[in-house]
Amino acid sequence: MGRDTEDNISKLITNYDDLKFFTKQLLSWYKKNKRDFPWRKKSIDHYKIIISEILLQKTQALTIEEFYPKFIKEFPNWQSIIDVNEYDLVEFLYPVGLSQRKGRLIKEISSIVKINSCKIPSDYDELMAIKGIGDYLASAILVLCFDQKLPLIDINYARLVSRYFAIPISRDLRRAKKIKQIAEVLTNTENIKASDLNFAIIDFSSVICLAKQTVCEKCILCSKCSKYKYI
Ligand code: SF4
Repeated sequence: MGRDTEDNISKLITNYDDLKFFTKQLLSWYKKNKRDFPWRKKSIDHYKIIISEILLQKTQALTIEEFYPKFIKEFPNWQSIIDVNEYDLVEFLYPVGLSQRKGRLIKEISSIVKINSCKIPSDYDELMAIKGIGDYLASAILVLCFDQKLPLIDINYARLVSRYFAIPISRDLRRAKKIKQIAEVLTNTENIKASDLNFAIIDFSSVICLAKQTVCEKCILCSKCSKYKYI
C-alpha cells in the first residue's frame, strides 16, 4: 500500500486491528456458511460466470438459482448466444421478469467475444467500452474470470462496510468514495483471494447484517462493529 493511500485510509480507519479482524472473521464465517450456488462451482467456465453475473443484476439470487440451469441448458456457450436472435433471447428471459436490457447485453458481449477469438477481454477499459457493461460487471468479470484483486461493491457490501467502520453512505454508490477506499484496502490485504472476500461480504450482508433487520447479538463482528457499539 502506498504512503498516500495509507494516510488517506488512516483517517477513515482508526484501528488496523479492526480491519484485520473484519476480514479474518468474515473469511472464516464464509468457509462454513457460503451459499452453494451453481455459478460458484470452481469448474465453471467464463461464459457461465458472466451469464450468472448478468442474470443476477438487480434480481434476487434465489430467483436466478432456479432459472440459471434452464438458461444454461438452452444456451450452453457463446456460440449458442451468437446463433440466437435477440428477440428470441429476450422472450426466453421474459417469463421470469428479466429485462430486455439483459438480453441485449448478453448479445452485445457475444459479438465482442466473436471478434476477440472467442475470448472475453481481460482489461477494465476494454470491458467498460462494451455497451451496457458498468463498473460492477466489469469488476466482477475481472475478479471471477481473471483473479484480479478488486472489490465488488453493491448496496449490501456498502451497507456492511459503512456500519462496521462508521462511514456514512448515500444511496448513490458511485459517490461512496470512502467505502471504495476501504474496500480496496480490504481486497488488497495480503494472502486474501478477492473472490472469497467479496462473496463472504455479499453472503454475510444477505444473511446476518440485513438492511432492515440485524442479529447483532449473534454477529461475529459485534465486538468491533461501530454500529453495534452505538445501538
Ligand atoms: S454487529 Fe450488527 S450492524 Fe454490526 S456487522 Fe454485525 S449485524 Fe451488522
